[in-house]
Amino acid sequence: MLLTKTNYLLYRECPENAWVKIYEPKIFHSFKPSDFDKMIMETGNEVDKLARELFPGGILIEDRKDAKKTKELIDKKEKIIYQPVFFTDKFEFIADILVWNDEQEAYDIYEAKSTNSGEKKKKKLDDYKYDLAFQVNILKKLSIPINKMYIIRLNCDYVREEKLNIKELFVIEDMTNTVNDISEIVLEEMEVAHDVLNKLKKKPTDCSCLIKGKSAHCSTFKYLNPKVPEYSVHNISRIGNSKKKLAELIDLGIYSIYDVPEEFPLTAIQRSQVNAAQLKNITIDKAALNDFLNTIEYPISFIDYESCIAAVPKFIGYKPYDQIPFQFSLHILEDKNDALKHFEFLHIENTIPDIAFVEELKKVLPKKGSIIVWNKSFECNIINNRLAERNPSYLTLINNFNERVVDLEVPFKKQFYVHPGFLGKSSIKNILPTLSPKFSHKNLNIQEGGAASDTWNKIVNGEFDDNELKDKTKDLLVYCELDTIAMYEIWKKCLE
Ligand code: SF4
Repeated sequence: MLLTKTNYLLYRECPENAWVKIYEPKIFHSFKPSDFDKMIMETGNEVDKLARELFPGGILIEDRKDAKKTKELIDKKEKIIYQPVFFTDKFEFIADILVWNDEQEAYDIYEAKSTNSGEKKKKKLDDYKYDLAFQVNILKKLSIPINKMYIIRLNCDYVREEKLNIKELFVIEDMTNTVNDISEIVLEEMEVAHDVLNKLKKKPTDCSCLIKGKSAHCSTFKYLNPKVPEYSVHNISRIGNSKKKLAELIDLGIYSIYDVPEEFPLTAIQRSQVNAAQLKNITIDKAALNDFLNTIEYPISFIDYESCIAAVPKFIGYKPYDQIPFQFSLHILEDKNDALKHFEFLHIENTIPDIAFVEELKKVLPKKGSIIVWNKSFECNIINNRLAERNPSYLTLINNFNERVVDLEVPFKKQFYVHPGFLGKSSIKNILPTLSPKFSHKNLNIQEGGAASDTWNKIVNGEFDDNELKDKTKDLLVYCELDTIAMYEIWKKCLE
């Protein structure tokens, strides 16, 4: 088995998961990627292709196994090669771009990443240097001269004008010294990874995430830990922050949340979640819930946005990874005894939706009262604040909007309201069917934000015929409307 660069990087992250990918590929790939995952993959491909425009006129190796053609090009010192393929007796990889440096008589390596230049997440930066070091070690083994190593990332400060400016869209970062510092260690690691993964034929059991919270688990957790049930001790709120407690439960052989002993030390929030599960009872902290509800003032506006994230800015004024707000649903309750009114907006042109979006909102949103959302930081920070930056004349309006926002997720996040049916989660998709079973996202054609954003993208890119367009538009409207009905229904339940 040849070790690929992807599998080596996966091995560094988790040897067990790399094992599943290599020996049980069906299991590894059996988890259907969400629309969001698909979007990330497509973004990666788009960025790879655009990055090639920084070095025009190169030759693309189309066949992902064509090391022979690569060798021919390298031997004749071809100036620019896209996607060259390399093999040794143990390793293989495909580089993004190689550029021949006449002065140094060696190749520069460029690796394109679809992340923002401002992102300083240690794990990502580590991945990049190990990624490049893997490439360098193989090229050295093949006696290919190397000069410098770079990563190409999206420039977080780039603001799109009419035409996409490729040079400004990307930032090229020199990683040569960092990579050289670790290349020897990486070579040893590569050898170990290759040998371990070749020798380890038996399925690993009890992977190390058994004593880590849910957020650390990958999609193969269930396969590697079959004795852990669906609603497990890993679902206990913030248990990942108290690893000692989790390790203690696992040591005691307690995997199910229903088996946690009464005397086991937990925080008040954790205990009420466990009690709710075990006793099948609903716990409501009336005082805290009422304090929260008393902050809500009439007229009450329940609002939900849909947006689409674009790594490569799609419109003038947009930066990499800006959200494009293309839709909202708004339910308004003027007063206690009034009927609920509904307004909606959906932009289906391939043009900037900003102004139409805010103008419509300005027209229908009451000038006072509370604005109820689910997940305030997303709605305010990601959408509103960037919207105001792009359109400063709406700053006052958007600031006023943000000041009136109340996050209805809070009572569930803070566990003022605990129900065994929530399974310890505070997502609207868990809360709604538990509190109001006649409503559920499960019967809709669009069931989550990723699918909504994907559908919108396809609509504005003209991928549907007239009939499909009608259906897809309706799907989007129905999906967004359900989210604001959901908030209204949940709020009513809280009042009971
Ligand atoms: S659940 Fe964690 S330890 Fe287990 S395979 Fe996935 S990442 Fe690795």
